[in-house]
Amino acid sequence: MQLNIPDSLQKRVLIAGGGFAGLKLATKLANSNFQVVLIDKNNFHQFQPLFYQVATAGLEPSAISFPLRKIFQNSKNVFIRVAEITGMNSTNKEVITTLGTINYDILILALGVDTNFFGMKHIARYAIPMKSVAEALSLRNKILQNFEDALVEPDAEKIKALLNIVVVGGGPTGVEVSGTLAEMKKFILPKDYPEIDFSQMKIYMVEAGSRILAGMTEKSASHAEGYLQKLGVNVLCDAHVSDYDGEMVSIKNNIKIPAKTLVWAAGVSGNQTQGLNPELYTGSNRIRVNSFNQVEGFDDIYAIGDNAYMAEGKYANGHPQMAQPAIQQAKLLALNLKRQVKNESMKPYHYFNKGSMATIGRNLAVVELPFMRFYGFLAWLTWMFVHLMAIVGVKNRLLVFINWFWNYVTYDQSLRLILKPSARKDV
Ligand SMILES: Cc1cc2nc3c(=O)[nH]c(=O)nc-3n(C[C@H](O)[C@H](O)[C@H](O)COP(=O)(O)OP(=O)(O)OC[C@H]3O[C@@H](n4cnc5c(N)ncnc54)[C@H](O)[C@@H]3O)c2cc1C
Repeated sequence: MQLNIPDSLQKRVLIAGGGFAGLKLATKLANSNFQVVLIDKNNFHQFQPLFYQVATAGLEPSAISFPLRKIFQNSKNVFIRVAEITGMNSTNKEVITTLGTINYDILILALGVDTNFFGMKHIARYAIPMKSVAEALSLRNKILQNFEDALVEPDAEKIKALLNIVVVGGGPTGVEVSGTLAEMKKFILPKDYPEIDFSQMKIYMVEAGSRILAGMTEKSASHAEGYLQKLGVNVLCDAHVSDYDGEMVSIKNNIKIPAKTLVWAAGVSGNQTQGLNPELYTGSNRIRVNSFNQVEGFDDIYAIGDNAYMAEGKYANGHPQMAQPAIQQAKLLALNLKRQVKNESMKPYHYFNKGSMATIGRNLAVVELPFMRFYGFLAWLTWMFVHLMAIVGVKNRLLVFINWFWNYVTYDQSLRLILKPSARKDV
């Protein structure tokens, strides 16, 4: 028995990664005639779109994370193993993990992406990314600790660096985190730290492209930029961050910003699996697949979600790395695997774009649906509804709703805890 999973006459579908894509596929194959093995390095599923609210003390990590085992309590054909996947061997049909090696009949790679620092070592060392709940929590700790340090710092220049925050990347994540920080500065922080002069605190959103929200229309981007400016965020476009030493952000054209906090929301790169032919990966480490999500050259290995690169119609550069393509591909793949068993032909995947949205702050959001666009309060309500419905677990939905309601009514939350493991003492 490999990884202590019983041998079975059922075909083994090994799903690598329990994110939006892997989890949806596993739920669709639960209680089917396949043996499903779901492997993830975490024992929980993370709702990435709300990481920024954990980072800005609006939500607890547990409200946006859900234990994988709980989802499959009633599915006897689903086996979960918490392990890191370190490689694979397609000839032997095996996957190598930190718990050992396991064979598959069908392998699904759904390992998502990780932060891309574009080879800038200093930035990788000092900036804080937001690709996991743990990183979001570490950003929260960092921001709150900086305010504590600013209280006792005698040097005026160092105080500025402690208060300033630079967010790199003008995509939805950068916009959302900058807007929320600006609201914290306005409504919450002066109450917590009355001794600090918050007029000195500057929030910058730095984008290398000519405008923010490149995935949305110019009109929506300009609405979002207007909202950010209204909240006091300094939006810098055509600005390439070139270096950061933990104290000073260097931007090309000789701009320097003193800041002890640099949030990196500027790029991602696919998680590679050692053993898969490197030529199958694109420049951003996505795996080339055909319209059935089969990895090129294989009929038993598939890639779905952010990990996959499928050129299709107007998505010649691949689908957007968002939750919807991941979920849609997983649903179709589940159907296709079942069709294969019945000797029916598989259906090709076509992305159905349900729209995109970003929230900037209280009553401020931009929404683009295939048939209409709208902004402001209605967009903000829509954003909240869509995100609330997408969260896994009724209790989590309720927790998030209560937090949002409380925050809206009181202009405050009470989650500003600095949670760090204490250094071990010798006994
Ligand atoms: C901060 C942030 C905000 C976002 N906001 C939005 C939004 O508002 N709307 C939207 O549509 N999309 C949003 N996205 C993008 C969306 O989250 C992704 O497109 C989606 O998660 C892709 O799903 P996936 O299953 O392909 O990958 P993921 O959800 O990333 O899942 C990958 C899984 O693989 C696991 N894994 C990775 N490597 C290994 C390994 N070696 N061994 C074992 N397990 C491994 C990970 O733990 C993870 O569970 C956001 C992303 C981020 C980071």
